[in-house]
Amino acid sequence: MPVSFSQVDNQYDVIVIGSGLGGLTTANRLAYCGHKVLLVEHHHRLGGLSTWFKRRGHIFDISLHGFPYGMVKTCKKYWNKAIMQSIVQLPNIVFDNPQFTLRTTFDKTDFTELLRSHFKVPEERINSFFATVAGMNFYDDQSMTTRELFERFFPGRSDVHRLLMEPITYANGSTLDDPAITYGIVFSNFMNKGVFTFEGGTDKLIGMMTDELEKNGVTICTKAKVDKIITEKGRVRGISVHGTTICAKAVVSNSGITNTIQNLTDREVYSDAFLEKADKIRVNTSSCQVYLGIRQGDRIDDVGDLLFTSKSPEFDSEELLDMNTKSKTFSLYYPKTRPGADQYTVVASMNSRFEDWANLDEETYQREKQSLVTRTIADLDKYLPGVKGKIDWAEAATPRTFNSYTLHTRGTSFGTKFEGLDISRSIFKEVAGLFHVGSVGIIMSGWLGAINYGVIVANDVDGFLRA
Ligand SMILES: Cc1cc2nc3c(=O)[nH]c(=O)nc-3n(C[C@H](O)[C@H](O)[C@H](O)COP(=O)(O)OP(=O)(O)OC[C@H]3O[C@@H](n4cnc5c(N)ncnc54)[C@H](O)[C@@H]3O)c2cc1C
Repeated sequence: MPVSFSQVDNQYDVIVIGSGLGGLTTANRLAYCGHKVLLVEHHHRLGGLSTWFKRRGHIFDISLHGFPYGMVKTCKKYWNKAIMQSIVQLPNIVFDNPQFTLRTTFDKTDFTELLRSHFKVPEERINSFFATVAGMNFYDDQSMTTRELFERFFPGRSDVHRLLMEPITYANGSTLDDPAITYGIVFSNFMNKGVFTFEGGTDKLIGMMTDELEKNGVTICTKAKVDKIITEKGRVRGISVHGTTICAKAVVSNSGITNTIQNLTDREVYSDAFLEKADKIRVNTSSCQVYLGIRQGDRIDDVGDLLFTSKSPEFDSEELLDMNTKSKTFSLYYPKTRPGADQYTVVASMNSRFEDWANLDEETYQREKQSLVTRTIADLDKYLPGVKGKIDWAEAATPRTFNSYTLHTRGTSFGTKFEGLDISRSIFKEVAGLFHVGSVGIIMSGWLGAINYGVIVANDVDGFLRA
């Protein structure tokens, strides 16, 4: 059970700030290795963006839309077998846009067949594309963009570009102008075996992770916002919460990397060269979501697990970000999501810019949110005719919502662009004992990336504490 701040000790080996999947994993690994760990979270609930909320009997998942098969191995190795055993495939992925309508299992075999039979791409070209993408690695040339990669293999085929890119944009906010390497790694991860989810919902996953943390002896403290990371003579000394200092040999920040540098620490602790690079970090865009609950006793047909829908003529990163975008992903949660509960919910997700929402006055903000809900229900009606009459809860979240719950700079959904990774990885060279974990660079974001990064950072911290 989380303890209140007044119950925590005044000295730990390591303090982890933030309980996103990265922070949870780092805390768990370090406690497992025998270190005395304090996990501090400003929200009343653990999970960060991997969270959920309840309204009128419905449970809405925020970021449980799909992750690659790699989660199976990662959860088994770094969490436990029971968590791994709840990972199940989402077999029905649907695309519906003016260029094509199709259903897929979203894996390499099915994509090869679709590209060959539906899009009439020669087989050698498809194989060569997959081989190139699978062969990409972290140390590759980063100058080629995803747009250039697509043009090389499928010149002028905006329909193929859309098939390959639209889900990845929803999955991590990347655009055609990001480095092809960031696309290649994420796409290959999904192409391995398809799209997976956690049966039982986010609440079950975070509950199981909390049990594991407690078993390993992590002290968990919620409703405690860290105001400052305290440093002295180039080393970490601890954290400050509500004016009280808790000491530690190492501090891991799971707060955003920009937040960590700009707000949790003083600029004087960093070298000019580091700050010059850190100031250039671009955060990824944010999201809007609409949560729709189907009245208890009513049901909806199975029209697919994930629906990538758009009325826009072609894939366009700018159009996807527009406040009035004609593109959205519907995640449909049937009773199979939480076996035993006869619940149907739908969550629509859109990529969004913080700037578009941040400065609206309260009246306009509420009006825009309501119009987003109205447009979303109208769009869903195409797939579930008459659904409006079955909805008994409808609510929208905007970049402002994400900013306020996670404190992330501009409410970013997927951390930073690629350059954030280097800064996150090198922060300990600036301040001894200070580490960062969290969504930085496209490959370290999403559920799988955040957990895997949590393991990497735990190893770094363990090495530091033992040195
Ligand atoms: C709408 C949406 C949909 C998504 N869909 C998917 C998906 O389908 N699949 C997928 O793999 N990924 C998805 N993601 C992304 C995924 O959820 C994130 O990349 C991942 O969960 C981030 O983990 P993290 O470790 O970076 O921490 P975060 O989840 O960002 O959590 C950081 C934590 O730190 C806490 N914190 C920050 N500052 C302080 C402070 N000063 N004091 C105390 N606590 C602090 C915050 O409260 C928060 O709990 C989605 C994200 C969004 C927003």
